[in-house]
Amino acid sequence: MMFFDPVYFLYIAPALLLAFWAQMRVKSTFAQAQEVRAHLSGAGAARHILDAAGLQNVAIEQVPGQLSDHYDPRDKVLRLSQSVYSAHTTAAVGIAAHEAGHALQDAQNYVPLVLRNAAVPAATFGGNAIIWMLIGGMLLSPKIPALAFLVPLGIAAFACVVVFQLVNLPVEFDASARAKKLLVEHGIVADQDMVYVNRVLNAAAWTYVAGTLQAVMTLLYYIMRFYGGRD
Ligand SMILES: [Zn+2]
Repeated sequence: MMFFDPVYFLYIAPALLLAFWAQMRVKSTFAQAQEVRAHLSGAGAARHILDAAGLQNVAIEQVPGQLSDHYDPRDKVLRLSQSVYSAHTTAAVGIAAHEAGHALQDAQNYVPLVLRNAAVPAATFGGNAIIWMLIGGMLLSPKIPALAFLVPLGIAAFACVVVFQLVNLPVEFDASARAKKLLVEHGIVADQDMVYVNRVLNAAAWTYVAGTLQAVMTLLYYIMRFYGGRD
């Protein structure tokens, strides 16, 4: 069966290793940057950046969890985890400024973000439904030719997930680039302390690269599996 195919793990092994390394790197650089104080909290830094950009309408809330920080474009709310919201550290202001960067992208209708938001339904519908289309198509279409559309449909749907992952990269890279620039411009982090912020944000960027690589390799695997001839 496809889900136990060891070949699949060969396809995605590099992405899994990269994801594992990047997550370790995020944790260690975040811990390092937590030792370096900043004069604003994460929430304070985000508020400062948002207000300076005229985004007083974007609220800042606290959410539970570790590194659960995100910007919600639908509610126009920036949600920061506990260790980011109230901590006066370069780690906290770095993450908060990155999320504020997403709010700025949203306010400017930054094209990759618009594309990413458009791809979200396909990507969230994604996962299980796509797997079942592929398995259903594989098992049923030899007996019921009318269901032959399931496999190409499943692969097309998964291609949407890959597109989402691909446009996610410029969205994330740009948010971090904005964060690095704004923290210095607004004097929130001193030049010599920016190295700590940069390490955290660069490590986080690798987690997105790993996610994208895994999606691309999974798509290639599906294409190989269903159209690569008999094996
Ligand atoms: Zn982000």
